[in-house]
Amino acid sequence: MQIFEKIKDLQAFLAKESAKGSSIGFVPTMGALHEGHISLVKEAKKESELVVSSVFVNPTQFNDKKDLERYPRTLEQDTKMLAEAGCDILFAPSVEEMYPQTDTRKFDFGFLDNTLDGAFRPGHFNGVAQIVSKLFEAVKPDKAFFGQKDFQQVLIVKELVRQLDLKIEIVPCPILREPDGLAMSSRNTLLSPEERKQASNIPVWMKEAKQLFNGKNAEEVKKVIIEKVNSTPLFKLDYFEIRNADNLQEYNAPTDKHAVALFAAFCGRIRLIDNEVLS
Ligand code: AMP
Repeated sequence: MQIFEKIKDLQAFLAKESAKGSSIGFVPTMGALHEGHISLVKEAKKESELVVSSVFVNPTQFNDKKDLERYPRTLEQDTKMLAEAGCDILFAPSVEEMYPQTDTRKFDFGFLDNTLDGAFRPGHFNGVAQIVSKLFEAVKPDKAFFGQKDFQQVLIVKELVRQLDLKIEIVPCPILREPDGLAMSSRNTLLSPEERKQASNIPVWMKEAKQLFNGKNAEEVKKVIIEKVNSTPLFKLDYFEIRNADNLQEYNAPTDKHAVALFAAFCGRIRLIDNEVLS
C-alpha cells in the first residue's frame, strides 16, 4: 500500500494510474478504523481497480470542540488494517494540507441540512461538504463508498455531487454491527463499560420500531420508543424520528414508499446515532 500525505504527490500518482485506465474507488474516513470502515474498502475493491482510502479527522465538521479533541486517532493501526484489507493507497494529510487557508464556502442543502443531525449539529454538514469536495477534487474517483450508518450524510453527499455536477457515483453500503447489534463506530471505544452496556439498547429499540411499524402508525411507534429511551439511565435523546427515506421529510402513508427510523442520543458524554429502514 502506498501512503501519501500531500495532495500533489497523490495526484501525480493517480494521474498515471488513470492514464492506464484504472477505475478509482474512494473510501473517505476519519480513522480509528473498525470492520465497518473495512467493509467499505472491500466493497470498493469489488467495484474498482484501484482503492484509495483517506484518514483525516476533519475539524470543520465538529460543532463541539471537546468531541474533536477526544476523537480517537490510531493511524498506525489504521494503516495496518487498510493494508490487510487490500487498500492500494492511503491518503493521510495534515490539517494544513487540507486547509492552507480557512474554508469559507457555504453550501446550501436546504431541508436536508436543517433537520435531524443538521439541526442538532449546526455547521456539521457544511464541514462534511467542505472536506468531501476537497477530497473528491484530490482523488477524482469514479465511485465513492459511504456507510448507511450516516444515513443523512449519504443524502447530503449525493446532493453535493449533484450541485457540483461531479461524475462520481455514490455507493451506499450497509451498517456493520457489533455482536450485540450496536452499530460499529469509532466513538464506541470512548464509552465506559456501563455506557457500553446501556448502548446495546439502541439496536433493540430500532428492531422494535421496525416490528411495530405498519406503515400508518409512525406517531405511535415514535411515542413508544421515545418513552423507552427517556426511561433508560445515561441516555439523553436528541431525536427519534420516522421519515421518508428518500428525502427525510415527514413520512406520509401510503404515498411515501420507503420509511426510515433515525435515532441520535447521548449515552453519557458520547453521542451515538443509528437508523433502520422500515419499509
Ligand atoms: P467516519 O470515519 O466515522 O467518518 O466514517 C467513514 C465512513 O465509514 C462513513 O461513510 C461512515 O458512514 C462509514 N461507517 C462508519 N461506521 C460504519 C458502520 N458501522 N458500518 C458501515 N459503515 C460505517
